[in-house]
Amino acid sequence: MATMFLHSGCSSCRAKESDRPKVVVSIFPIYDLARRVAGPDADVVLLLPPGKSEHHFDPTPKQVEDVASAKLGVMVGLGLDPWMEKMLKDAAPKARALKVGDKVPTLAVKDDPLGDEEAHAGGKDDDHDHEKGATDPHCWLDPRRAQTMVQAIGDELALVDPAHAAGYRERATSTTSKLAELDAEIERRTTAWSRKDFVTFHGSFGYFADRYHLQIAAVIEPFPGSTPTGKYIEAVRGVVEKKKVPGLFSEPQLDPRPAKILADELKIPLGVLDPVGGAAETDSYEKLLRFDVDALEKVLK
Ligand SMILES: [Zn+2]
Repeated sequence: MATMFLHSGCSSCRAKESDRPKVVVSIFPIYDLARRVAGPDADVVLLLPPGKSEHHFDPTPKQVEDVASAKLGVMVGLGLDPWMEKMLKDAAPKARALKVGDKVPTLAVKDDPLGDEEAHAGGKDDDHDHEKGATDPHCWLDPRRAQTMVQAIGDELALVDPAHAAGYRERATSTTSKLAELDAEIERRTTAWSRKDFVTFHGSFGYFADRYHLQIAAVIEPFPGSTPTGKYIEAVRGVVEKKKVPGLFSEPQLDPRPAKILADELKIPLGVLDPVGGAAETDSYEKLLRFDVDALEKVLK
């Protein structure tokens, strides 16, 4: 309210604000990269609130309104955020859409060593995004692919707002070098780990593992948001015991109970791996990745 009064009567401010193109972005890590590339030249809005699973989202009317005035929508694609694609088509059919997942080489969802039978209690029809053989959409967790995404965001912003193209390209380049530094740092750290295999909560760290030569021994909840069956959990427990997996992880966006129960039974520590971030301790792309590397390092070093 105060802001509204402050700006009323200041037509130059209002004109300036409406001149800046608005960019809406589906999930936090891509939002952080987009806002850095946008700098002072575009307004970037995050749609998925931090703490919510990236796979399911019902937008509020206020968010639909935000999207309606957007010039550009940035999403992952690859089946991750169809909710964003639909929202953009419905509310802003003239806006450009950038799917950063289409700009990078993709990986298939890894064959689950446990097999996928009876992996979850719910109906099989509600979630196909993590089935084996399908494309794994979690490509942003590889900082090398993220560099390609940053360049794509810079190119797209330059198209949407040609007057500021040089600024977008410059900031895309500087963000890319920051990500290259991060990638080198993570490579140094992960190379030094004595263990290379870990168990994730949902199938979110495939690209990360692939980039740093790590192995995902099992996934506790292969269909995010759908509680795994007792039989499936027993199979995960078998893998954890056989491979002497030193710890398990939950994720902030999903109910941690299946991981907590298993960790308690096996008397091994339960950490947190965050694929999306946006909380105080994960409020930049780099902080998110370092948060995850710290969590993994505790059990794998
Ligand atoms: Zn996911």
